[in-house]
Amino acid sequence: MVLTETVPAAAPPAHEGILRRQSLRESAARTYARSLPIVPVRARGLTIEGADGRRYLDCLSGAGTLALGHNHPVVLEAIRTVLDSGAPLHVLDLATPVKDAFTTELFATLPGELAEKGRIQFCGPAGTDAVEAAFKLVRTATGRDGLMAFSGAYHGMTAQALAASGGAQHTSVVRLPYPYDYRCPFQTGGERGAELAARWTQSLLDDPKSGVSRPAGMILEPVQGEGGVIPAPDGWLRRMREITAARRIPLIVDEVQTGVGRTGAFWAVDHSGIVPDVIVLSKAIGGSLPLAVIVYREELDAWQPGAHAGTFRGNQLAMAAGAATLAYVRTNGLDRRAAELGARMLDRLTSLAAAHDCIGDVRGRGLMLGIELVDRTADADATGARPADPQLAAAVQHACLDRGLIVELGGRQSAVVRLLPPLTITDEQADAILDRLADALTAAVRTTPGPTGSSPTTMRGTSP
Ligand code: PMP
Repeated sequence: MVLTETVPAAAPPAHEGILRRQSLRESAARTYARSLPIVPVRARGLTIEGADGRRYLDCLSGAGTLALGHNHPVVLEAIRTVLDSGAPLHVLDLATPVKDAFTTELFATLPGELAEKGRIQFCGPAGTDAVEAAFKLVRTATGRDGLMAFSGAYHGMTAQALAASGGAQHTSVVRLPYPYDYRCPFQTGGERGAELAARWTQSLLDDPKSGVSRPAGMILEPVQGEGGVIPAPDGWLRRMREITAARRIPLIVDEVQTGVGRTGAFWAVDHSGIVPDVIVLSKAIGGSLPLAVIVYREELDAWQPGAHAGTFRGNQLAMAAGAATLAYVRTNGLDRRAAELGARMLDRLTSLAAAHDCIGDVRGRGLMLGIELVDRTADADATGARPADPQLAAAVQHACLDRGLIVELGGRQSAVVRLLPPLTITDEQADAILDRLADALTAAVRTTPGPTGSSPTTMRGTSP
């Protein structure tokens, strides 16, 4: 494949020096910086330009944050308007016209009762803080402590910070099976697998000797993102809604990653028509700047003033950028565009899977797409799934970067190559992304030995 966008004969020293100083100074816990050794200096839409002059198509999008891509004109304009207005940039949680406009725009998009009479809590700026707030809210409202969550879920990183805080509570989280079609623990997959998962949940709640008491809330992602791009069937989501409603268990839906059109509906819950008791929002709602909120049914609003405080809950620039993003997605129907384009990209990925038997599964919803890489030399289990191949996934990510494409890895064993492009990409850009991915996959397959190290992973048929 010929890359027209690459300039680098020799990377300028600034680029290398920055990366070297980063590896010397920054924490061992740094993440994306390890697999993506680039130094972004300019960005627009889908494209990032590195300090070495190379250009990349960015399908990581700030871990799913950039609904409109980098530096979209409406976002920049909204930020400039606030800056030029002389409005205070730091206001704690005071009322401002910017916040009022953001809240109005957000509520206009929300489902059912949340739009009509939901309450909003502005949280600390990260998704994880909004998740913490949601737990605190439902614990206070129900007087119960336990939580139900799902295998493979990702909700953030603050558990240790909470445990170390003065107000730490004992947390008991009951783990439930998420309907993961490709690796269905009930070895049936499909609707039946999802139904069995739902029945397991129900029996834990109804069996007085299950060892599980009624929790303060259940939290789920409508499409697991970090867990490996696993869309929950709409029917299963409706079952979770019924099960929780019938037992007066608040249902918390974490739309931190799936929100704002990403899955082909404005909110991922819109596909199934369910209305959660609490919705957790961050990432795209800040239009690329940090912002996190929960919106919940007013009956749950039983916590006390100051119950979930925080200095940075009033980011005016994020609210302005977020309101502009929400309005742009809504008025331009970018959720529908994500549905259409995502379906076409999924088709092409399915063709890619037909040509590469190291692709165990292709899945996604809207512009949240993933391919699960597996060891083609290993035996399949009873459902046809083979062991994950994280080594190959890492090689594909690396080969993508070589070809000017930034992709994310996810999944239980980091063997899922994830695509989270902006909702604004053109058909041609979508093709360019998939061309580069296909090329990278072919190259990685040739050079990567299987997980056993014994036999090289090879291709099925010819490359598309
Ligand atoms: N929930 C989900 C579904 C997420 O994908 C993430 C981040 N990837 C979070 C919560 C945590 O958000 P943050 O990283 O902003 O704390």
